[in-house]
Amino acid sequence: MIESPSPRSRALRVTGVTRSFAGVHALTDVSLAVEPGTVLGLIGPNGAGKSTLVNIISGYDLPDSGHVMLDGVDITKAKPHVRARNGLARTFQHGHLFSGLSVRENIVVTAMGTGQSHRAAVATAEGLLDSFGLRGRASHAARSLPHGVERLVGVARALACNPSYVLLDEPAAGLNEGEIGEFSDRIRELRDRGLGVLLIDHNVRLILEVCDRIHVLVEGKTLIEGTPDEVRNSDELVEAYLGRSGSVHR
Ligand code: ADP
Ligand code: MG
Repeated sequence: MIESPSPRSRALRVTGVTRSFAGVHALTDVSLAVEPGTVLGLIGPNGAGKSTLVNIISGYDLPDSGHVMLDGVDITKAKPHVRARNGLARTFQHGHLFSGLSVRENIVVTAMGTGQSHRAAVATAEGLLDSFGLRGRASHAARSLPHGVERLVGVARALACNPSYVLLDEPAAGLNEGEIGEFSDRIRELRDRGLGVLLIDHNVRLILEVCDRIHVLVEGKTLIEGTPDEVRNSDELVEAYLGRSGSVHR
């Protein structure tokens, strides 16, 4: 299903993606690209279509039209596990850990699910436990974790398949200020290692701090894409978030 990539187009690229659910236009003609070694922020009010886009990029949903390209290969119709084996990983907005398994086991099982041997998966897990400061929690059951730790394990798990690109759907939701600072550091490390990161979050400080570019969706359409400075200073953004009613959506 996956052909060999054309070397010139290293990026995770979405072109002209449109998706409706029974008359609700969740996404209309959305295009964006995540390049290796960069962080693209994806922001917008609730219902803007952010999670729908992540589902389409990761293969949990299909667009009505448009394409998803992974390093030059059309993966629009590839299954999620095929995408994962080809270097595309995601987190889920709501947990999705195996609650009865330990932190270590959650990472090992995910790594094995992408084709690693048990031995390789354990080595992957040990490395991620260290880099995410999770060693002290390694044998704790996922169901017993405080919220902030659970989010970190979700990200560590996404990285278990050694991805080239990672999609993070509100990974920092519910973290406290200190945890968000550490989380920003982890994201910068991923970028510095050459990963392409798509980061969805409502925490504007986090987004402005770690993103190289920011893509703003409103009601399924692209409002603006630019650098943090360009987006912060745009009148459209203020209008989109304040709306006609003057109340801030989240
Ligand atoms: P966001 O993540 O930006 O909050 P979503 O992508 O979850 O937005 O939702 C975008 C729109 O699509 C919303 O109006 C939502 O109700 C609708 N939607 C998303 N998924 C489905 C689905 N599976 N069935 C019906 N409507 C959906
Ligand atoms: Mg969402």
